Amino acid sequence: MAKELYEMTVVEAVNHNKDEKNVNELLSSLSKRAEKVNPKVKAYLNWKTEASEFDGKTSKDGKSLWGVPISIKDNICTHGWETSCSSKILKGYIPPYDATVVNKLKNEGAFIFAKCNMDEFAFGSSCESSADFPTLNPWDLERVPGGSSGGSASSVASDEAIVALGSDTGGSIRQPASFCGVVGLKPTYGRVSRYGLIAFGSSLDQIGPLTKNVEDNARIMNVIAGYDPKDSTSANVEVPDYTQTLTKNVEGLRIGIPKEYFIDGLDPEVEAAVREATAMYEKLGAKVKEISLPHTKYAVSVYYIVATAEASSNLARFDGVQYGYRHPSKDLVEMYMNTRSQGFGEEVKRRVLLGTFVLSAGYYDAYYLKAQKVRTLIKKDFDEAFKEVDVIISPTAPTTAFKLNEKKEDPLSMYLSDIYTIPSNLAGVPSISIPCGYDSKGLPIGLQLIGNYFDEATLFRAGYNYEQTMHWNDKKPSI
Ligand code: GLN
Repeated sequence: MAKELYEMTVVEAVNHNKDEKNVNELLSSLSKRAEKVNPKVKAYLNWKTEASEFDGKTSKDGKSLWGVPISIKDNICTHGWETSCSSKILKGYIPPYDATVVNKLKNEGAFIFAKCNMDEFAFGSSCESSADFPTLNPWDLERVPGGSSGGSASSVASDEAIVALGSDTGGSIRQPASFCGVVGLKPTYGRVSRYGLIAFGSSLDQIGPLTKNVEDNARIMNVIAGYDPKDSTSANVEVPDYTQTLTKNVEGLRIGIPKEYFIDGLDPEVEAAVREATAMYEKLGAKVKEISLPHTKYAVSVYYIVATAEASSNLARFDGVQYGYRHPSKDLVEMYMNTRSQGFGEEVKRRVLLGTFVLSAGYYDAYYLKAQKVRTLIKKDFDEAFKEVDVIISPTAPTTAFKLNEKKEDPLSMYLSDIYTIPSNLAGVPSISIPCGYDSKGLPIGLQLIGNYFDEATLFRAGYNYEQTMHWNDKKPSI
């Protein structure tokens, strides 16, 4: 059966788009697909229905993404298009500017197709804390798509997006990519500009692509990576052409398996799939050995101190004065209180309270400062490991997608689902999640590849070789 236009990858879309008519056909196919599947998966907050909205007046010449529709997580600012972080407090906020990543995509001829649902302010691992509605997993509508970029992952998996952008502070691109069976990259801290990303944890946040395959991911990174003077944490490090490394095999690639990652709580089916993937790498010529990341067990605790501390100060600006929702009140203090109590959801309040507590006088040294010291130890674990190996392999998440409401009332068990993704954010190293099989319920399993600083190229090379051998992503959910 011939492929529908909405099923296309980025590479296919670029080849398909010869003129404005092709682009409009693609947009209308995608928008019809969204009309059909979005009521089921609820990945989008809204999307473009009008084919005429594509401004194809710019010439295709030299544009690497001409006419490619992009879906964007709702914490990334889009000029003239509501950006709410799926929070009540930001409803009605229309950014007067584009985030740098959006700008770069548009400069390459792409256009914004949709805004994706997410956990409120990106706090969560299931998309259930969205103030709008929970997004569902296209592989099983009773299950979560993961989070916080659940809308982005679900939209790509259900073919209502060609590609989506997400953000990752502790796993929010990789864990939903794993739950939905797509490819998701968290770049090195500083690799992609955060200008126009509504901040959660400023020392952890990164924007990255969620795609149907590794090559698409590399193509999008070619466009969004690079130095941006508007983001003071953006790194001035040369960006290679990521598509170049895809052709290299993995002969001699040194792969490390961290013994601390294969622990209680890891689903045996997930473990088996990751071990099989490792064996396949050996078959393909890679050299695999066990390594140690000894401070792994502190990562989740450190993260929930550092991330909440940063979040509580970043969210102080939402007070009803400048942005979004304002609760009518008789005086200023009451207005602040009412706006924040009614505008923020439960998980946001929990984190603001936690973060304010760990930063408060008397507790700062015991919690925040201590956590920063342990964070340095976690970073050193990676520095040591990358003296011996080029890539570290692990599961992306300890389980496959869980059921809706299963962990909602138990924040601690929800926090533990980020155990394998959080260390990369604390250290700042890049990591990618790629599909590596299905469990006995037919749910996708994700393999995480962690690389050295600014070495996304090796992750793409390793990911591509495995993907082209196994073709797990040929299978699609039937919705
Ligand atoms: N699930 C983690 C959290 O709730 C990570 C979220 C993220 O990466 N934005 O903090």
